[in-house]
Amino acid sequence: MQIAKNSVVTLEYVLKDDSGTIIDQSTGDEPFAFIHGVGGIIPGLESALEGKQADDELSVTIEPDQAYGQRDDALIAEVPLERFEGVEEIQEGMQFHTASEDGTPHIVTVVDISDGVVKVDGNHPLAGVTLNFDVKVLEVREATAEELDHGHVHGPGGHQH
Ligand code: ZN
Repeated sequence: MQIAKNSVVTLEYVLKDDSGTIIDQSTGDEPFAFIHGVGGIIPGLESALEGKQADDELSVTIEPDQAYGQRDDALIAEVPLERFEGVEEIQEGMQFHTASEDGTPHIVTVVDISDGVVKVDGNHPLAGVTLNFDVKVLEVREATAEELDHGHVHGPGGHQH
């Protein structure tokens, strides 16, 4: 069957940036599964997969606007070190869950520490990055009513509960 809204799609992929560096990958041993058409993956990949079927392979380049968006310097903030009470040692690259004033949860990454000030970046790590996917579709099936209710895939590549 072809990939359409509410299909459960299992795939393997290799994700590279424009310099060819592998950012992420999911192989046949640990495939990635998602429900198509419900915003579970980036828009550019979702539209590239629409209508594809098992055993199809595709290479697709996705600009930031169809992936994780552009970087926004307003999301970089400087936070006094004492705000990180209870964290044993702050290091560059550490990530923390936080919430903006309207309660939207997001993840910030520590990018610099100096003189008791921690600089954190709330941009998605892949914001501003053009993504190059090599994808192989392994399986396409209808989502079950329970999966649609939960909003995620059950079984291999999904939730085991
Ligand atoms: Zn579930």
